[in-house]
Amino acid sequence: MKSQLKKIIPPRVGKLIKSSWLEVRRFYYTGNRYECPVCGHHFRKMLSGGFDLPVLKEKQIVGGGYRENDVCPYCLSTDRDRLIYLYLKYESDFFNQPQTVLHIAPEPALFRIFNKLDNLHYFPATKYTEGLYYGSGIQTADLLDLQFETGTFDWVICNHVLEHIPNDQLAMQEIFRVLKPWGQAILQVPYSPILKKTFEDPTITSRSDREKYFGQFDHVRIYGTDYTSRLESAGFHVETIEQTKKFKTLGNLEKYALNPKEKLFVCKKIENFKSL
Ligand SMILES: [Zn+2]
Repeated sequence: MKSQLKKIIPPRVGKLIKSSWLEVRRFYYTGNRYECPVCGHHFRKMLSGGFDLPVLKEKQIVGGGYRENDVCPYCLSTDRDRLIYLYLKYESDFFNQPQTVLHIAPEPALFRIFNKLDNLHYFPATKYTEGLYYGSGIQTADLLDLQFETGTFDWVICNHVLEHIPNDQLAMQEIFRVLKPWGQAILQVPYSPILKKTFEDPTITSRSDREKYFGQFDHVRIYGTDYTSRLESAGFHVETIEQTKKFKTLGNLEKYALNPKEKLFVCKKIENFKSL
């Protein structure tokens, strides 16, 4: 239905309808309780998001499952987007220094900001799937065989992608390879804080079974608390950042409608870090 409408309505008119609708919704939700750091607007509530599946509840998945106050009514940033934005803006030099950035499967709300930053040499990229639209200006990249030279990027941002890839170790190694020495990657995934060992089973292949066991029709695993050691196996030094510790300079984080349980996985290419 949506794609049929896209064919009938000229793109410029479609854009105008969409932006008018977002303005109406921004007005409707305007209030003082929440602030979206990405678009800068204030709201009385955010939109709910996510799916209410039994396995997500049972495994207490962080970064998955239904959440109230998840999505910004205006820029559509999710709680995860806002967490990453706050980290990059206030805890790194991402916005202030020249940076070469690979952004895999870019989140639209972050893409719109990063794409306009003059200090970034920005490569938004994704592996295209037939029939899906990713937006203009996004190039093709295969995370298992990246087309970039070793040591190209200061940053790789790749969120909620690894849980889709059977050979996630190879994907992690590719990300590590294309980073410059001392480069950093933000690699968020949905994970279970009560699962010690990542659950994966290559015999679970149907959409319905994957949804039942992994929480989404195209996921191939549920990461457990060993996610960090899987990243370390690819060579990374992993800094796991709890919001309350790292973001205390920002004061009360409640207004940003983050998921307080979500940790940031900041993965650094510190060569020979184990011997430091
Ligand atoms: Zn927003």
